[in-house]
Amino acid sequence: MPVDCLFCKIIAGEIPSHTIYEDEKTVAFLDILPVSVGHTLVVPKAHSENLLEADPEDANAVLATMQKIAPVLRVALEADGMNVGINCGEAAGQVVFHTHVHMMPRVAGTPRSFEHKSVSQEELAATAEKIRAKM
Ligand code: 5GP
Ligand code: ZN
Repeated sequence: MPVDCLFCKIIAGEIPSHTIYEDEKTVAFLDILPVSVGHTLVVPKAHSENLLEADPEDANAVLATMQKIAPVLRVALEADGMNVGINCGEAAGQVVFHTHVHMMPRVAGTPRSFEHKSVSQEELAATAEKIRAKM
């Protein structure tokens, strides 16, 4: 694992996160600066820079996890839809260089903003708990 990779450290449990799902190949945890309630990052456990460079098996595992947790996010958060986002490379806005996919649940009739908002740890913990309860 690269010494300075933030998400490798989260996966290893060296940095705390609000994890909502984990399996052999992937982890899903809440984004610390969500653009919507329940904004989730799905990552492969194996390090790669971004989805276009990941081992296809890891990329497929990420997709499988997304399909598994999407209905749970929708039910837990009463979301009607979901933006799915992947930034590959600095020029595309990638900031953390460990493969991840953004899942941004949306409730019909609410603003579809992509602005990152600062929320309290308590709020993130409550959202994660709500999601895990439906997993
Ligand atoms: P990118 O722009 O690389 O696609 O997105 C990286 C995401 O990681 C951003 O949405 C940012 O809010 C999130 N992020 C940055 N640092 C942390 C952290 O320490 N913990 C968590 N859970 N998310 C983070
Ligand atoms: Zn990494």
